[in-house]
Amino acid sequence: MAPQPKTADVVYLTTDHRAWRRAVLDRAGNRCQALDDGVRCTNAEPECRLFADHIIEIKDGGHATDIANGQALCGRHHSIKTNHARVLRLNDRGAARHTPGAGYSDDTTGGR
Ligand SMILES: [Zn+2]
Repeated sequence: MAPQPKTADVVYLTTDHRAWRRAVLDRAGNRCQALDDGVRCTNAEPECRLFADHIIEIKDGGHATDIANGQALCGRHHSIKTNHARVLRLNDRGAARHTPGAGYSDDTTGGR
């Protein structure tokens, strides 16, 4: 067996990752787990495509195939979360500090 390169991209191709994704979505009841002002998002499969998201991203040291590090997110919340993580990384390098646990909801449209 040739040694495998240790990049995050490789993880997404493995059956382990597919099994992890399925387990994360099953655990979530195939429904987005994001909260808007404490109200859980109602987007769910099969009407809405869900992403299995790494709560702590792999490049930030999160575990790739631990279900505890996974959450189901709809496309909208997945992009909000992805952008938020990027902002946090930028802030880490710069001056501003972000308060952990402040959430990543910046959408006040409700969503009933
Ligand atoms: Zn959602």
